Amino acid sequence: MFCPKCGSLMHPEEKAWICTRCGHVVEKEGSGEVIVTKAKETRDILVVGDEETLPRTRIRCPKCGNNEAYWVLRQTRAADEPETRIYRCTKCGHTWREYA
Ligand SMILES: [Zn+2]
Ligand SMILES: [Zn+2]
Repeated sequence: MFCPKCGSLMHPEEKAWICTRCGHVVEKEGSGEVIVTKAKETRDILVVGDEETLPRTRIRCPKCGNNEAYWVLRQTRAADEPETRIYRCTKCGHTWREYA
């Protein structure tokens, strides 16, 4: 399964295929369920750790303009796919990702 948007290899989640490069989601056939959103996926990853122990970096939050965010490095499952940095704003909690 390749992403119809950017052509990268997609990886399967329970109900959808998700592009690890651009975050595009393709619902699996016949599931009839609401697709998994990019925002939900990143939130689930960050819930795992205590955010007080996460490293912080100076980066501008695209939502509120705050200049600091926590970040974690997400290892993708396939070896040929790039690592993803996931940021969470220290002020408003907005979560977004950036590809290395
Ligand atoms: Zn894509
Ligand atoms: Zn923010």
